[in-house]
Amino acid sequence: MARTKTKAFQTETKQLLKLMIHSLYSNKEIFMRELVSNASDALDKLRFNSLSDEGLLGDDTDLSIQVSVAPKDNKIIISDNGIGMNEDELVENIGTIARSGTASFLGNLTGDKQKDSNLIGQFGVGFYSVFMVADKVEVLTRPAKSKKDEATLWSSTGEESYKLKSSEKETRGTDIIIYLNDENKDFADKSRLKFLLEKYSQYINFPLSLNEEGEEVERVNESEALWLKPKNEISDEEYSDFYKFISYDQNDPILWVHNKVEGNNEYTNLLYIPKNPPFDLWNRESPRGVKLYIQRVFIMDDATNFLPLYLRFVRGIIDASDLPLNVSREILQEHHLVETIKKSITKRVLDALANMKDKSFDSYKSFWKEYGLVLKEGPAEDFENRELLASLMLFASSINPENDLSQTLDDYLSRMPESQDKIYYCVADTFEAAINSPHVEGHKANNTEVLMLTDRIDEWLMSSLMEYKGKELVNVAKDDIAETSKPKVSEKDEDVLAKIKKHLSDKVSDVIASSRLVNSASCLLLPKNEPGAQLRKILEAAGQNLGESNPIFEVNLKHKLLKRLATLKGKQFNAFVDFLYDYAVIAEGGSPKDPAKYLRQLDKYLS
Ligand code: ADP
Ligand code: MG
Repeated sequence: MARTKTKAFQTETKQLLKLMIHSLYSNKEIFMRELVSNASDALDKLRFNSLSDEGLLGDDTDLSIQVSVAPKDNKIIISDNGIGMNEDELVENIGTIARSGTASFLGNLTGDKQKDSNLIGQFGVGFYSVFMVADKVEVLTRPAKSKKDEATLWSSTGEESYKLKSSEKETRGTDIIIYLNDENKDFADKSRLKFLLEKYSQYINFPLSLNEEGEEVERVNESEALWLKPKNEISDEEYSDFYKFISYDQNDPILWVHNKVEGNNEYTNLLYIPKNPPFDLWNRESPRGVKLYIQRVFIMDDATNFLPLYLRFVRGIIDASDLPLNVSREILQEHHLVETIKKSITKRVLDALANMKDKSFDSYKSFWKEYGLVLKEGPAEDFENRELLASLMLFASSINPENDLSQTLDDYLSRMPESQDKIYYCVADTFEAAINSPHVEGHKANNTEVLMLTDRIDEWLMSSLMEYKGKELVNVAKDDIAETSKPKVSEKDEDVLAKIKKHLSDKVSDVIASSRLVNSASCLLLPKNEPGAQLRKILEAAGQNLGESNPIFEVNLKHKLLKRLATLKGKQFNAFVDFLYDYAVIAEGGSPKDPAKYLRQLDKYLS
C-alpha cells in the first residue's frame, strides 16, 4: 500500500490561492483555457524532446488532448499524453511559485477586483485558477518513458496543503481531475464546455476533443495551424481570435501581417499589433518577442531575435523551416537566417504601418498615441529604415494652434515654399511652451511652419535623423549663421550690445541683435553643436558631464524693455541686463538662478 505524504503549500502559493478563490472570481471560466494550455505545453515539450530522443514517443505517437465531463458527479477530466511529471517535478511545478510570471503577477495586483482579474488574463496565472471552481483537484501523472506503476497522484482542496501518493496509470501523460464545487457545478455541462473550448482553445496545435461519459467523442478544433492556411481562406474574425488565443488579450488587434516566404529560407510569419501596449512596455527586463516554431514544432516563447527592440510590442508567431530543430537562444543570436528573417519582417511591419497611415489615418493616429514613443527609438537602432521610420512619425505643428499630433514630415514638405530648404522644429517640455517660444516668433511672422516637439526623446531623435528626404532638420533654438542675418545696428546700439556682452561675459559667448524676435525681448541661442536643454537633461541624467553651456544672447532692440535699458547706466544697467537674461532663461523652460531676485526686479520695473 503506497504511503500518502502531505506537504504544505509555499506561502506565496497560499496567497495566490486565496486571491483566486476570494477575489478573482469574475472570470472563472478561464480555468479551462489554463488547463488546456498546460496540456498543450506538455505535448509541445514531449514533441520537442522527442526530436533528440526518439524513444520518448514509443507506440503512443498520436498526441492529443481529451476533455471528459461527468455531469452526475460534477466532474471534469482533462487528459493529455504529453511529457508528464515525476514526483519531484510535481512538487516543483505545482507546489511552489518559482516562476517569474506569477511573482510579477503578485507584484502587480492592485486590489481592484476587475483590474486584477484582467491581470490573470495577461499573466496566465495557470494551474491554480482551477480552484476558483473546484473544491478538490487531482493530478494523476506519469512521465514519458516510465512504467505503469511509476505514476504519482497529487491532490488538494486548495487550502493549506496537498497530498502526494505513488500510483498507477495506463498511459503516459497527465489527467487533471476537477471536482466542481456546488456553486460552479454547472460547468459540468458538455455544451457549456464546448463553447468555452471553442472560445479559448480553438487554436491549440493538437487534436482537442470532448465527450460526456458514455457518449461519443467529438473533435473541437481544426487540425491545421491557422498560419499555414492561405490568406484568402482566413477570415478577419479568425485572425483576431488567433491573436486573442496567443496573447491572452481581450481586444482585437489593430493590425496583422501574415506572409509565407518560399525559397531557400522558408518561413511563415503571422504578426500582430495589439490595441493597447502591454503594461510592461517600458520594462527592459520583460520577456518579449514572438513564438518560434520550426517546421510546425513549437520551439520557444519570447524569441527576441526576430524583431528590433523598437518593435517590441509586436506579438505573433514565426514558423521557420530551415533553422536547426535543436536551436537554442544562443544559436538564434548568431544564426544568419535569423538576421535575414528579422530584416524582412521588420520591413513588412513598417510597410503595414505606412499603409495604415495612408489608408486609415484615424486608426493610425491612435496607434501613434500608444506606440509613437517606442517607434521614435527606431532611427538610432535601425539605420537602414530610418527614412521609412521618419515618414511614420506624427508631430504637432505651428499650422495648428491645437496640440494635435497629426502632421507627418511629408505633410510638412508638401506645404513648404520652394525657396525653403530646411525643416524647422522647436523642442520644449509642453506644446504651449513650444508654440509660444521666442524662437518661433520670427518663423510665425514669416509664415514658416515649425514642428512642435515635446517628447523627452525628441531632440535626440531629430539630431540623430539630421535630415529627411534631403532637407536638413533644424532646431529653431540653435544658432544658424546663414539664418541669423544680422540687422543693421546703429552706433549707439552697438555700444549697448558691447556693454551687455561685457556684463554677461561669463554666461554667454556672444550678444547679438535679433532679426527674428517679434514680441519677446530676448532669448538664448545655442551653438549648433551643443545639446539643447532637453537633451542636456537626458545626457546629464545618464552621467555625462557636459560642462557649462555657452549660449548666444539674442536681444530684440525694437522691444520696449531694450529701449528702456538703453536709458540706464552703471549698476542699474547691469541689474536690468541680469533681468533680461533671466527672462530668456525662463522662456527657454529653465529657471533663474535666484527666482526671488527676479521677482523683486519685476516688481520694481513694473512700478
Ligand atoms: P505555466 O503554464 O505558466 O508554467 P501553470 O501554473 O499553468 O504555469 O503550470 C505550472 C507548471 O505545472 C507548468 O509549467 C508545468 O511544468 C506543470 N504542468 C501543469 N500542467 C501540466 C500537464 N498537463 N503536464 C505536464 N506538466 C504540467
Ligand atoms: Mg499554464
